[in-house]
Amino acid sequence: MEMYTVGELASLTNGKVIGDSNKKISEIFYDSRSIVSPKEGIFFALTGNSNGHDYIEEVFTKSIRIFVCSYIPVKHEQATYILVDNPLEALQKWAKEHLKKHPVKTIGITGSNGKTIVKEWLFHALNSELKVYRSTKSYNSQLGLAISILQMKPGYDLGIFEVGISYPGEMEKQEKVLSPKIGVLTNVLEAHSANFKDKEDLIVEKIKLFKHSEAILCNDQPKIRTIIKQVYPDKKIIFFGKDADSDIQLLNVVKQNKSTCLNVKINSKEESFTIPFSDEASIQNALCLLAILFYLNMDVALIKKKFLQLYGISMRLELIHGDNDSVVINDTFNSDIKSLEIALQQLYQQNKPKKILILSDILQSSSKEEELWNQVSTLVNAYPLDQLLLIGEKGAKYKQWFKHATYIFSTTQEVITFIKKSPPKDSAILLKGARDFGLERISKFLQSQSHDTILEVNLNALRFNVKYFKSLLKPKTKMIAMVKASSYGIGGYEVAETLQLHHMDYLAVAYSDEGVFLRKKGIYLPIMVMNPELNSYQAIIDNDLEPEVYSFRVLEKFTERLKELSIAKKYPIHIKIDTGMCRLGFNPQEIEKLAFQLKENPWIEVKSIFTHLAVSDVPEEKDFTQRQAKLLTSAYDQLVETLGYKPMLHCCNSAGIVNYPEFHFDAVRLGIGMYGYIDHKETLKNLENVVTLQTVISNIHTIQEGGTVSYGRRFRAKKTTRIATLPIGYADGIKRLAGNGRGYVRVNGAIAPIVGSICMDMMMVDVTEILCQEGDEVIVLGESPSLLEYATWCETIPYEILTSISPRVKRIFYKE
Ligand SMILES: *Cc1c(COP(=O)(O)O)cnc(C)c1O
Repeated sequence: MEMYTVGELASLTNGKVIGDSNKKISEIFYDSRSIVSPKEGIFFALTGNSNGHDYIEEVFTKSIRIFVCSYIPVKHEQATYILVDNPLEALQKWAKEHLKKHPVKTIGITGSNGKTIVKEWLFHALNSELKVYRSTKSYNSQLGLAISILQMKPGYDLGIFEVGISYPGEMEKQEKVLSPKIGVLTNVLEAHSANFKDKEDLIVEKIKLFKHSEAILCNDQPKIRTIIKQVYPDKKIIFFGKDADSDIQLLNVVKQNKSTCLNVKINSKEESFTIPFSDEASIQNALCLLAILFYLNMDVALIKKKFLQLYGISMRLELIHGDNDSVVINDTFNSDIKSLEIALQQLYQQNKPKKILILSDILQSSSKEEELWNQVSTLVNAYPLDQLLLIGEKGAKYKQWFKHATYIFSTTQEVITFIKKSPPKDSAILLKGARDFGLERISKFLQSQSHDTILEVNLNALRFNVKYFKSLLKPKTKMIAMVKASSYGIGGYEVAETLQLHHMDYLAVAYSDEGVFLRKKGIYLPIMVMNPELNSYQAIIDNDLEPEVYSFRVLEKFTERLKELSIAKKYPIHIKIDTGMCRLGFNPQEIEKLAFQLKENPWIEVKSIFTHLAVSDVPEEKDFTQRQAKLLTSAYDQLVETLGYKPMLHCCNSAGIVNYPEFHFDAVRLGIGMYGYIDHKETLKNLENVVTLQTVISNIHTIQEGGTVSYGRRFRAKKTTRIATLPIGYADGIKRLAGNGRGYVRVNGAIAPIVGSICMDMMMVDVTEILCQEGDEVIVLGESPSLLEYATWCETIPYEILTSISPRVKRIFYKE
């Protein structure tokens, strides 16, 4: 970012300086955990889920010396403080002034879906023509937008920004900061969160972004059209959609195998554009992109060419678990300096003792070579790396600019040979570079076994779902994330790590082993253990895990252990009350005795008191749930009275969160919901799919009428039939019940029924009607067929399907 001084910043934000006004600022931090190279860094003490002021001390130890805060918790002589009323507003004000100082043509993209994709596509479509700046990742919140703007250096022609909102009133603030020249509304879905009344409410709020726009490009959805015309009768609005009135009208689409031809009417002329995607969302996004490019007067022939190239863009960094406990971050889709920075941050955050960067020459940039490599080396040098592997001529030329142990290669193949000789152990490896170098070959090589069957876990979707559930809570209500049974069968520690990174309050596991594993992986959040086994108390105490105490026996035994060890602090425990599950917990009749014993026990501290609801997902059983809550609160009151302090009170699981806002109390326990399922139709629509089980076709046979498939010959062909064999079976967790025509998979997007009996390691599907070949991708479970559909075929619930996916299926975690 551009350099500012403390004095300049204070005058832009009406802040009061305590300390040295001449100090320079060249990097912004707001999260204590992401601080790497704090040279001239400034820390904004923001308040949200947590209070940033509480972290100033920690940040000070990480050598940050400038703070923007509304009060000073502990004053340090060496530190400089800028006192403001509201640090977030100060940041926004700064962003606004920064934009004023460097006027560029701004495009602001808002909408329920597709903001990031449209922004990235637009960047790639324009980048060879203009100097285009785009916002970082999918930064679109109040904080994200401001940060994105501040990271913009001088000299750009055009800036593209994503703008999102979670609460009413936010868009006005966002508008003040950005005031985009060109406004884009991708679409508006039903209100995602409880913060908005309905869709109209959401539309009215979103279009506030366009208050000062010279033009608006807008999805032609009926409600949107009416509202936007009313609010902005005099503005230039270009509608895109299927309606005959749309300025850019989608006439029809012709889907080929993996691409789609869009026939569009623009200015009463018909044109066709091909995109290398066939899913509905991509078609929508492409239409939006077309509207923007058209408005910017891009030549139609050039647009057609750019559309064909859209494939090069992926939004996500691939996180892959490699050999020898290594993790590979594959980011070979973008190779500009900005995305290098994001990827380095990711690398830095990996909890591995060794860090390696494999970087190829950067080909697609318009900057001058020396300047570019100067930037690259400065950036890379700021991060601790154990090895730097450079591929290509340019790397060789500028080698001496890098301070790390640097190795030079001319081809990707040479790197593979090098890695073969000394395979990296326990390392985080970032692959970054231009497409032409084919760095993904290295990533393939580094994967433990290249399995055809994988479980893809989308950590962004997980995060989205958590945010969704948070939006249903009061700001003060805490959230406990249930990561028992290895995060509902997903496995690994990545789910817990993601939750930790995004400020989850608490985690809960079933057994102490699971908690110990998470601690080993660097999870420092408080962890509750719901089934603390007698012989695991030592492990619990050694690892700072917090047991659930559900009986006098557990209380007595655990206290004995604490006494033996003479633990000085009062050890945190959680008290479970049985109010109707009849599983674990103290009976309501036992509370008086319990209260007395707890009061007399100097070794423990009760952190929370809770119960588990039996029918929170069954509206007809409301009475039972209310009775459970009543029993809990009266037990709680009784305990609090004796104890003299107030532990956290909680009872809601996912369905409880949705159905019983009145019982959210101090905290809720979110489980299945964050993994993408909930037994509540309306809410389910708002969740994103998290896990996708996918494989590839290993073999294709054609059988004639009367031919049979699999054990027991339960499928008999009625006509000539093409059968594809998939390398996944019941040993991978596919229930046999899904076979013999009950279930289906998706082959290249199309439905292929499962035929014959499912075998241990394989199953067969009917692909007679589908264009496909051996090696093609197959979705066994995910967006469609969904967990719910799958569970229905197998006469069970989504929880069981999810937790049954066998550990032999390789997990791949995606996150941005
Ligand atoms: C598993 C579990 C939850 C979460 O339930 P979901 O229905 O998955 O949200 C909450 N509380 C307790 C005690 C649990 O065991």
